[in-house]
Amino acid sequence: MKLQRTIGILGGGQLARMTIESAMRLGIRCKVLDRSSDAPAAHYTDGFVIGDPRDLDVAMKFASDCDVVTIDSEHVSAEALTRLEAQGKLAAPQGRVLRIIQNKCLQKDFISDHGFPTARYKKIAHIGELKNLPIDFPIVQKKATAGYDGYGVQVITTSQGLSAAFEGESLVEEKINILKELSVIVASDAAGNRVAYDAVEMVFDNERNILKFQLCPADISAAVAEKAQRLALEVAEALQIVGLVAVEMFLTVGDELLINELAPRPHNSGHHTIEAAATSQYENLVRILAGLPLGATTRTQDSLMLNVLGPAEGGMVALENAIEPYFKLPHAHVHLYGKTEIRPFRKLGHITLTGERAALVREFEAMRAGRHP
Ligand code: ADP
Repeated sequence: MKLQRTIGILGGGQLARMTIESAMRLGIRCKVLDRSSDAPAAHYTDGFVIGDPRDLDVAMKFASDCDVVTIDSEHVSAEALTRLEAQGKLAAPQGRVLRIIQNKCLQKDFISDHGFPTARYKKIAHIGELKNLPIDFPIVQKKATAGYDGYGVQVITTSQGLSAAFEGESLVEEKINILKELSVIVASDAAGNRVAYDAVEMVFDNERNILKFQLCPADISAAVAEKAQRLALEVAEALQIVGLVAVEMFLTVGDELLINELAPRPHNSGHHTIEAAATSQYENLVRILAGLPLGATTRTQDSLMLNVLGPAEGGMVALENAIEPYFKLPHAHVHLYGKTEIRPFRKLGHITLTGERAALVREFEAMRAGRHP
């Protein structure tokens, strides 16, 4: 156990910010590297450095006085993590793991080569290859790199639709009949101990094509919940990852569990663990980095988590009006990330409602319909 370690975080978004909150409670110091002096984590540390975490030299220089390193986003230098490990520093995740996950084609091969269930797919080097393939429409095309939150993912339903296909390296998957989208987060320490959180269900607003809310526990049978946890633990073991991995899955209409994608860091689907689990995902990451024992992942109460997004119009005033009713609920935990630029649909915060699942869903729908308490 080394409480006096300095954690270096590549990227200064909200995930870094919440990781720092946990580290601070344990008296552990964090440094942050981000391109923007206004990043959500910038004001949470006196060790903030402006620079591009994707740049190898910048990341190496930043981490020279850190004992351990972690990430806020996949879009950072994996090579820096690998070189820091070679210097004897703990990296969570390791550069090797980040490199696999950074590219959706490598990631998908990893999942498939290890025998995990996943949607059938083909890897495409460029758009020309796609046009020559025999294709059963509809398909889902995903850019190999630089996609996030659904940007870089599109459904193509006909051969005419191929004219709008992404140009470069991509993944083409069969379109799955999804019943529910689930996520399980696993925390793994350097000694190979692993703990999994309860499966979370992501509920989408199909009209607006964005996440409506996340529920924990997911509304699935105990058998499926257990299988989802087991799959996620097996993926973490196959990766030999140190740190957190979020395993996103589809429960199909045919009751199959398919792995969709992996994230080697704290994840949106784990925000609720701050208030609704014995140890949050952020604290477990800090514990792993500090060589402390992993904390229990036990759910302490049900939760419903909603992202606070930039309003389509009306700026800060519209945002304040939208979240104000939640401040009146004793079981609503409001987190705002301090972002000053309000773009439509940008993630600006999240709200976790705790209580009993069915009642929380009813309450959410009532709030959305304007029936505030
Ligand atoms: P991102 O990394 O941008 O979040 P995802 O791979 O998670 O991309 O895809 C975004 C969304 O697209 C998923 O949450 C799911 O709703 C839908 N999707 C992705 N792959 C498929 C698929 N093979 N079949 C049906 N829907 C899919």
